[in-house]
Amino acid sequence: MGIIVKSPQEIDIMRKAGRIVAAILVLLKKRIEPGIITEELDAITVHELSQHGATSAFKGYRGFPANLCVSVNEELVHGNPGKRVLEDGDIVSLDVGAIFQGFHGDAAITVGVGKISPRAEALLEATEGALNVGIASARSGARLGDISAAIQSFAESRGFSVVREYVGHGIGRQMHEDPQIPNFGSLGQGPLLQRGMTLALEPMVNAGDWRTKVGSDGWTVATADGNLSAHFEHTIAITDGEAEILTTLG
Ligand code: MG
Repeated sequence: MGIIVKSPQEIDIMRKAGRIVAAILVLLKKRIEPGIITEELDAITVHELSQHGATSAFKGYRGFPANLCVSVNEELVHGNPGKRVLEDGDIVSLDVGAIFQGFHGDAAITVGVGKISPRAEALLEATEGALNVGIASARSGARLGDISAAIQSFAESRGFSVVREYVGHGIGRQMHEDPQIPNFGSLGQGPLLQRGMTLALEPMVNAGDWRTKVGSDGWTVATADGNLSAHFEHTIAITDGEAEILTTLG
């Protein structure tokens, strides 16, 4: 398919899609507390999407049953919300994907439930920090590998590991467009970044080993060793200067 460069008009629609995603994540974060049931978060998401004239990018994607991905503790991505009750000390990753006027927005945060351990706190900070250095590396004229290398070196410098089997991606009319964006790699490698590319950067960082496994539901991805994992994601647009974060309230 190749990398699809977007027009300013298309990026403007993606800005709107991104703002909807950001607003929903703010709302969900406020609702995170011990005792909330994960399917309640799904119900909030589908309600808010429809209020904004958007639909879930995840529902039905390869048969995914929910509108939101909710991944708890050792789970990192593709968690299917259900009857699970969040408990004090859990960490929970919330991944929201919206389709608005034919374009996608995709972002994720990991949030502590009640009081979390210092180790969990450090993992969240390292993962969000890795996303931020990835975004800072995403400049016109840089290479894709510069983003990957920045994410990997930041996470590993904090003593954590980056997941290999799941990656960031180009995004636009499709949720997953070229290029794939690994969270590990080498400076100066890969495609040249240019203005108008729209990318979803999404470090998944493990407290232990980087290996993962898919759960018995066929969806939920967890760490193979059972240690904690965190996930932060933004959809961004490459400009001539600093990348623009599209999944923000702006
Ligand atoms: Mg994504």
